[in-house]
Amino acid sequence: MAQLTDDCFAFGGALMRIEDAVALIAERLPVLAGTEWLPLGQADGRVAAEPVLALHDVPPFPNSAVDGYAICHGDLNPEGETRLLVRGRLPAGMAAEGIRGDGGAIRIFTGAPMPPGADTVFMQEDVRREGDVVVLPSGLKRGANARDAGEDIARGARAIPAGRRLRPQDLALAAACGHDRIAVRTRLRVALFSTGDELTEPGVPLLSGAIHDSNRVMLATLLVRLGAEVADLGILRDEPEALAVRLRQAARDHDLILTSGGVSTGEEDHVKTAVEAVGALMFWRLAIKPGRPVAMGVVDGTPFVGLPGNPGAVYVTLLFVVRPLLARLGGAHDIKPLGQPVRAAFTYRKKASRREFVRVSVSPGPDAVLEAMKYPREGAGVLSSLTETDGLVELDDAVTAVATGDMLTFYPHAMLW
Ligand code: AMP
Ligand code: MG
Repeated sequence: MAQLTDDCFAFGGALMRIEDAVALIAERLPVLAGTEWLPLGQADGRVAAEPVLALHDVPPFPNSAVDGYAICHGDLNPEGETRLLVRGRLPAGMAAEGIRGDGGAIRIFTGAPMPPGADTVFMQEDVRREGDVVVLPSGLKRGANARDAGEDIARGARAIPAGRRLRPQDLALAAACGHDRIAVRTRLRVALFSTGDELTEPGVPLLSGAIHDSNRVMLATLLVRLGAEVADLGILRDEPEALAVRLRQAARDHDLILTSGGVSTGEEDHVKTAVEAVGALMFWRLAIKPGRPVAMGVVDGTPFVGLPGNPGAVYVTLLFVVRPLLARLGGAHDIKPLGQPVRAAFTYRKKASRREFVRVSVSPGPDAVLEAMKYPREGAGVLSSLTETDGLVELDDAVTAVATGDMLTFYPHAMLW
């Protein structure tokens, strides 16, 4: 397994922009995932480990794009209608051998090979049939309704780049290019812990001072959506020695250790102490809200990320820090989701020099432009601000105020995962 150096997360600046964090991750960290071959039907959501090349032209031969009549454009009367004798019939799946498309017309169907000599197809809706003869109107361009061999992908061309997270349409293209299996990255093995003496397993009655652990199920399921294999290792108590032992164990057979809670700089932040004892720890003071400092570390050569404890901060830091990190370790292209424009239906003030993600609900305004309404309660600990909203709007670093009517960038929750 690749070993990370203890200083790989070192960062000199005081406040770190998201873009700098992502760039540093891409520069300093290796791809840890291996390669395996999977049948296409099992590769949805996995990451292509190698470029997929076309084994043959797609389509493999020139063919008709419509049901109609294949002809040679040179046989058409440039002045008006053309009458051609229908000399053959070509359904899809039949070979065109022995059939010629010049000097007459061939009744042809979508996907059937273009007969030699033919270069153009009239749609059946546009012609008149008179017995053995088809009457063709004038004005159709040469090559109309005919598809060239290789016009989608030429033989040997790269159909899918390495690093693409495979979608159903990618798998369709791989199949069309002649493949039945694909080389994909192995899933990253992520060790997941919650930390805190106040945490109780969901479903277990709460004693005084306790809360239910809600981060772990959110993180575990988000990580699975991001393609990881998650080892749910439960709750760690705030005891540095025991924590250190568990982190060391986890480092042995995982590609990443992820925790939430216990990494601020207070005296009760025992994860910090434990990681410092068995490895190296760097605090990244990210210029984002919500998201307090995120702890980046290395335990015995394995990367460690300590997320804040508050659920709102967990969500945002997972999206903007852990997601690019997983992409890098897993050999995937990190694609920032493409936000959509929305109009602010709220006013807001914010500090300069940090990116802020505001939880909003959206609905179409009177002119059908989407309008965003801010969730009334702001705390990073308010879980319902994630469940009762449609997504996040991104307020740029330089922005200090939002006025009603401002155009903002919106990322739906559904698009983020
Ligand atoms: P900490 O960073 O450990 O000081 O935690 C910050 C806040 O997040 C505290 O209110 C914790 O109780 C809360 N918190 C920490 N971990 C979890 C968790 N797994 N589930 C829900 N809340 C948590
Ligand atoms: Mg804690």
